[in-house]
Amino acid sequence: MKRFYPLIFAISLSLPAAALTVKSPDGKLAVDVELLRGKYPVYSVDYDGSTMLRQSPLGLTTNIGVFGKSKSMTATDLTPVKFDYTLDRIKQSRVETEYNKTVVTFVGVDSLSWSVEFLVGDNDVAFRYIIPKEGDTGSIYIDSEATGFRFPKGTTTFITPQSDPMIGWKRTKPSYEEEYVADAPMDTTSQYGHGYTFPCLFKVADEGWVLISETGVDSHYCASHLSEYQNDGLYTIAYPMPGENNGNGNTGAAQALPAVTPWRTITVGRTLAPIVETTVPWDVVEPLYATGHDYRYGRGTWSWILWQDDSINLDDLKKYVDLAETMGYEYILVDNWWDNNIGRERLPELIEYAHSKGIDVFMWYSSSGYWNDIEQGPINHMDNPIVRKREMRWLRDLGVKGIKVDFFGGDKQETMRLYESILSDADDNGLMVIFHGCTLPRGWERMYPNYVGSEAVLASENIYFQQHFCDEEAFNATLHPFIRNTVGSMEFGGTFLNKYMNRDNKKGNVRRTTDAFELATAVLFQNPIQNFALAPNNLTDAPEVCIEFMKQVPTTWDSTRYVDGYPGQFVVLERTHGSTRYIAGVNATPSPMEIELPGLDKGDRVEIIRDSKDGSPVKEILTVGKKAPKVVMQSQGGFVATVF
Ligand code: CA
Repeated sequence: MKRFYPLIFAISLSLPAAALTVKSPDGKLAVDVELLRGKYPVYSVDYDGSTMLRQSPLGLTTNIGVFGKSKSMTATDLTPVKFDYTLDRIKQSRVETEYNKTVVTFVGVDSLSWSVEFLVGDNDVAFRYIIPKEGDTGSIYIDSEATGFRFPKGTTTFITPQSDPMIGWKRTKPSYEEEYVADAPMDTTSQYGHGYTFPCLFKVADEGWVLISETGVDSHYCASHLSEYQNDGLYTIAYPMPGENNGNGNTGAAQALPAVTPWRTITVGRTLAPIVETTVPWDVVEPLYATGHDYRYGRGTWSWILWQDDSINLDDLKKYVDLAETMGYEYILVDNWWDNNIGRERLPELIEYAHSKGIDVFMWYSSSGYWNDIEQGPINHMDNPIVRKREMRWLRDLGVKGIKVDFFGGDKQETMRLYESILSDADDNGLMVIFHGCTLPRGWERMYPNYVGSEAVLASENIYFQQHFCDEEAFNATLHPFIRNTVGSMEFGGTFLNKYMNRDNKKGNVRRTTDAFELATAVLFQNPIQNFALAPNNLTDAPEVCIEFMKQVPTTWDSTRYVDGYPGQFVVLERTHGSTRYIAGVNATPSPMEIELPGLDKGDRVEIIRDSKDGSPVKEILTVGKKAPKVVMQSQGGFVATVF
């Protein structure tokens, strides 16, 4: 990210304009910017003749002035900007994309000038505010934004509420773990009355789809979310709530001048393909530091998800090391209470055992801190730089490869600084970082080279905890590939092969999905390290075809493509890893559904694991003939097809 934007550039090339249109390279996506009634800066978004966002407000309220109502508007010439980068941790390993860029500068009624930089790609709009340094004023505090998104009539929503602060388990919310409502009208109030967390998906009647999010949020800003529905199709950018982080820290953003805000992003398509395939969160950001380490991604075993706190002991964890070895996995994740239940003196024994089997180790930490009531240890190691650095050096010396840090305090700039400090210190010690109980990552895979993934979703733990989430597992799984996981790696911790959510696999909450469904989620859910919910007993009590598939499923992808689906009903995606293609689908509707496998050529060899009528998995190996093969997904079922 370029933080110090040269204002002179904007002035030297600017031409006065009453209204301005920024078109995408292919000419289909158009952003119109104008001063409404000669005063109020607004923008709108059209796609191939359809209105996707109506005139929506722009502006910031700050302690050096209100950037909104303006006297004039000028714009730089349109310039093409190409992004070409590799990133081994997202949906696609190599990205080459082009945007058209314009910087629009407004002169406010109080004569203060401010700019909005627009990047318009074929299916993505990104824009951010730039506030110049004028006179002696060297810093700014931004209280709120006028930034809005005004949808046409008939738009429906696929969004999830921002929770109250300081509620839930040990007062750890908000942590982006609320439920979605699919296809709801705009004119409703959210569950908590605090708006909705990013990303937010909208269906603009029969015209297409719009995904709203933000990227490039680091220690220089707070994370924001979408407001409650205002009126006339409008939602606006909302900042964190005062009560987050136990009331500590401001809700706005402080910066040195010139100031640059995060990017607000709008992804637009006739179908869901541009939403599933977007790379805008990473296109418009840059690495914030170089790393000297060679981080390795892969699969992990995770005792806590089914065996819970009782499994945090040497005997049980060694069983999970052995499971990782049998599966050919790279990691084991040691969850909470290890400081108490194993102890720091005995931890080296576990790590040495894992290393002797070729398995590397991730260790759990609480982020806390004064922002919740978490007592699960270790606490009070990640919030203080002196303690944190000492702890990380100790982990590095033990040969630990990563940490999972849980239970953050919300979205305030104060907390964004903590995320960044943890990532930066961890990289100094060759440690990768997974976040749980946390905010949405916003471009972090590219910004922080040792960042792995974040929970920020109603994840697998809920399936363990409550029958309701077993019942809703299929519904939720058809949302994430279209919403949460489109803009950031998602540490879901899924693929259960236990029928019952219990260590003995005989009682507890009952899984409703088929085994083929569970395998499909290993492909549908993207995170460069997947800590799967497999248990040692699955080696003998789960169908062998499932174990064989889970031994070879990759976690990094060269490409990702939307095939078919509708959020809340079903999803089919294709991802490639090297020359191997994986097509995966799940069905949340009450009826079986037949899918034709896309893009196959005569002679392709395909291995399909699908549901039989009774829901048990069947493996078929076939060579494609004249017709494309078809697969039936049972209700709450699915399939995976591997194409060689
Ligand atoms: Ca959680």
